[in-house]
Amino acid sequence: GKRQGVTICKGHKNYELMLNLQLGIRHSVGRPAPTKSLKLKPTAFDTEQKLWTRFPPEGSKHTPPHQSCEFKWKDYCPMVFKTLRKLFNVDPADYMLSICGNDALRELSSPGKSGSFFYLTHDDKYMIKTMKKSEVKVLKRMLPTYYEHVKSFENTLVTKFFGLHCVKLSGPIQRKVRFVIMGNLLCTEVPIHRRYDLKGSSHGRITEKPETEIDANTTLKDLDLKFIFRLQKDCYQEFCSQVNKDCDFLEQERIMDYSLLVGISFQEPNRQASEVNVEAHGNGTTPSLSTDMDSLVDPKKCSCVRLGIKMPARVEFTVRSQETQLVGEPTGKFGDVTIFFGIIDILQDYDMGKKLEHAYKSFQYDSTSISAVDPRLYSKRFKDFIFKVFSDDN
Ligand code: ATP
Ligand code: CA
Ligand code: CA
Repeated sequence: GKRQGVTICKGHKNYELMLNLQLGIRHSVGRPAPTKSLKLKPTAFDTEQKLWTRFPPEGSKHTPPHQSCEFKWKDYCPMVFKTLRKLFNVDPADYMLSICGNDALRELSSPGKSGSFFYLTHDDKYMIKTMKKSEVKVLKRMLPTYYEHVKSFENTLVTKFFGLHCVKLSGPIQRKVRFVIMGNLLCTEVPIHRRYDLKGSSHGRITEKPETEIDANTTLKDLDLKFIFRLQKDCYQEFCSQVNKDCDFLEQERIMDYSLLVGISFQEPNRQASEVNVEAHGNGTTPSLSTDMDSLVDPKKCSCVRLGIKMPARVEFTVRSQETQLVGEPTGKFGDVTIFFGIIDILQDYDMGKKLEHAYKSFQYDSTSISAVDPRLYSKRFKDFIFKVFSDDN
């Protein structure tokens, strides 16, 4: 199979940083103090503690000797994340093996525009994202309500966060790198053939790649979507109710810019691949894609679908009549699929920058088509779109 990303070996520019991250996590997760209950003291959310652990290369009383440069390490709200990991049924030993085992992490070629870097663990279970200071601030602020939300709704679609950390590199330039560890929603036992990042806005929501370069690792967007997802009635109702609850939570937290990430696994890869082809190219033959599809069937098993939501579905193919129209006309042609999904990128609040972006983009474009809008409008538009693209199978 074709794996995402570049393995971080010695010599890679972020090799030492990754070593630091692994040393830090081993230090934090490996500490005893088991959590027996899911009840947290309010002080656990107290983010004022300034706990920096120094990791000199020669080692110290609390830290092991290491091959990397000297750095300092900070764990944000360790008790809260420890309890979250317990709530999400993450075994501490497995967690440590995934992130700090001997197998190297992989760096993804910056999938987002924000400048964040993404890393995948060797077993694909966890995704590590570097964070802006403002995103850390948002996560710290909403941690108590996030915790209550994920505790109340077992089937929540919002990203599962397992840890929030900071590495401070010593030396002349004191660089701080902040990381969040989250579940990889698309870590599945079946191959993902297509992935979509859906916001419900239309401006710029189309992939820039030429169609021949689109493969299973390409993140496609709203205007690329040529399907309606048909779910079983019960599933659909549950899905809608959860999307409503999750969007209410995000709206209350003044969050916007989030997406529904959807991974599609076609049940008959080869046959369906050619159908995708028909839709994407308007003709039946693009040999490169069908050979690509064969190589995508990865036998490697991974049993962590609970990180995302898995559902059987049918996709109904659609045609688009307008460039700006988000949902195309159904063609009556169907395919059987398994879909995996969750709500990602939930740490952007409607701050001054986003308000300015809204203001200047509104001069040039239809203000309802741009991503940067007020959280209330954002959630309404997001739901309107999602409830059109997802439907019950009558
Ligand atoms: P921007 O703000 O420009 O959208 P970003 O840097 O904040 O970008 P994200 O939107 O968080 O990045 O993620 C970019 C892409 O990475 C997503 O479209 C998705 O393909 C992938 N991704 C992000 N989070 C996850 C996750 N938890 N599981 C699987 N894939 C993810
Ligand atoms: Ca995003
Ligand atoms: Ca973002």
